[in-house]
Amino acid sequence: MSIEVKNVFKYYGEQAALNDVSFKINSGEIVGFLGPNGAGKSTMMKIATCFLTKSSGTVKVAGLNVENDSIEIRKKIGYLPEHNPLYLDMYVKEYLEFVAGLYKGRLADGTKFNKRERVTEMINLVGLEKEQNKKIGALSKGYRQRVGLAQAIIHDPEVLILDEPTSGLDPNQLVDIRQLILNIGKTKTVMLSTHIMQEVEAICDRVIIIKDGQLVADDTKAQMQQQGDAKQVIFVEFDKNFSRNQLRQIQGVNSVKNVDGNQWLFSSTEADIRPAISKFAQQNDLLVLTMRIEEKSMEDIFKALTGK
Ligand code: ADP
Repeated sequence: MSIEVKNVFKYYGEQAALNDVSFKINSGEIVGFLGPNGAGKSTMMKIATCFLTKSSGTVKVAGLNVENDSIEIRKKIGYLPEHNPLYLDMYVKEYLEFVAGLYKGRLADGTKFNKRERVTEMINLVGLEKEQNKKIGALSKGYRQRVGLAQAIIHDPEVLILDEPTSGLDPNQLVDIRQLILNIGKTKTVMLSTHIMQEVEAICDRVIIIKDGQLVADDTKAQMQQQGDAKQVIFVEFDKNFSRNQLRQIQGVNSVKNVDGNQWLFSSTEADIRPAISKFAQQNDLLVLTMRIEEKSMEDIFKALTGK
């Protein structure tokens, strides 16, 4: 288990920013940590990275306890905080060599690395070749994010915690950085917070949603898309036109919407209406050219779980 959070509370004065939060993240998972502004995402990430102490509960990262093993945990994790604090007057390469020095030339698993070689490797990995000799202050937001990611992974951490890693990036940079996170996620545990639902759809295996400091969902993306109010929506294309009124007679169908020509959307509160649709088509001499379950978007799910 890479991150284990059990019954965690965090109070800022009277306010409970985290209210009995529990979840687990396994090695090799990319988990999206979602919630509206002020839900407690950054607070949770700061606690898991040992930047902030919790009020109560247990937090283990890479098998170590945040209270007793804070320094050991920091050696094993990579962290990109929300506002990506960087030394703007340092040059990209100089800064990354400085960070490599902080880890005393050792990767998270203890093996030694050559500082210069490792920095070159990171620069190539995150695509900073052209910018490596520039001052960080002269870089665009997207390139600064790349520097932030490079410093987070320079010591090859087991666990990567990224607080809104793609906020403010342009669409091309978004694609690059997401691909990079996906590649890193093949071998690491990644916990990332984001506001962008397409991002969750694009890269996360599992989603944890918090609202007002409390966990409201923890599921795989696929499971989450299937649950909710259990309403099933089926897209069907027949070979010819048919009367809507007759299609509404299909057993279990609550509503029928015409998409275009012979294409229809059937919705139902029943478990699965596909067999009934197939049977109906057969009986009425209709051919089913396409039939698929329309997945709910993460955006719909997020709204349903966190809306007022
Ligand atoms: P998120 O990252 O989901 O936007 P945060 O963890 O930043 O949420 O904040 C959760 C809640 O805790 C918010 O209501 C915020 O105002 C409050 N909060 C965060 N940091 C502090 C702090 N240092 N002092 C007082 N309240 C804070």
